[in-house]
Amino acid sequence: MSDALPDELERHDIRKQVNRILRDLGNPEPPIKLADVRSLLSLDLQYYSSSDPGLVSELTHRFQLIAKKTIPDLGRHLQLALSKSKLCAFWVPALSRIMLDGDVPEPKHRWIEAHEIIHSVIPWHKNFLLGDNAQTLDPTCHAVLEAEANYGAGRLLFLDEKFNAEAKDLDLSFKSIKLLQKRYANSIVSTFWRIVEDRNPLDPVFGMVSIHPHYADVGSHDGPNPWRYFIRSEAFARQFSRISSETVYELVRSHASRRKAGPIFAAQDTIIDDRGEEWEVELECFSTTHAVLTLGYTIKERPVVVQVS
Ligand SMILES: [Zn+2]
Repeated sequence: MSDALPDELERHDIRKQVNRILRDLGNPEPPIKLADVRSLLSLDLQYYSSSDPGLVSELTHRFQLIAKKTIPDLGRHLQLALSKSKLCAFWVPALSRIMLDGDVPEPKHRWIEAHEIIHSVIPWHKNFLLGDNAQTLDPTCHAVLEAEANYGAGRLLFLDEKFNAEAKDLDLSFKSIKLLQKRYANSIVSTFWRIVEDRNPLDPVFGMVSIHPHYADVGSHDGPNPWRYFIRSEAFARQFSRISSETVYELVRSHASRRKAGPIFAAQDTIIDDRGEEWEVELECFSTTHAVLTLGYTIKERPVVVQVS
């Protein structure tokens, strides 16, 4: 969500780093190959298994050998990082190495790898041994360094402005989202997110990632609410600041069909902006079975009906 975004100055610096990478790779066509990015940056990727009991001593030993010196507190750092629940990955600056838990489902690797790559290119992250779990890798994570890495990961995986330019030439629909998902080889949720937030920040657009109102197991997640993310374009956040997650989920609930996968519904409804004006909105809902995604955008302001007595 926009309030998890780094400040403008940091965003500018991070984009500069991402653009340098893209330029050095000859401004590649999507999808970006992260192996190429790592080889450009001389970054190594190593998989580990979090279920391996001898992991910490083994890693500590190997790291000391490669570094050809004793890294102060390395064992303690590793132990700490690994003992945190659900650690997925970490970046070891001293070794220019990304460590990724091979037990994490494969579709998540791309985002995690990009996130760790960004840690390695942001100059002010160099002094940290950063371990990442499901929370820090979540795009809404507010911790400063994590929000920065997630912001940069998005810019890298969607080739900075290229994605927005291409998205603008397509309709706002799941057909376009699926097309761009394939083209950029990113997840459908991250593609959906980017379309809602960035395709045109001046259009009021919103998106929700939630459970299926009729099947709690479809799109289930750890959070306390039926929805996981409520995403808004800049214009939507400004003009419809009173539209809450609850209101949007209620729209999803009221229109949802009993289909479990694929298109769930397409409908029109009305919402009210901050000035009290009614707007017609187009809604489209799609289920991947792992998440239910609802896309919404305003069509037109409803004409005021003048009562003639
Ligand atoms: Zn991180």
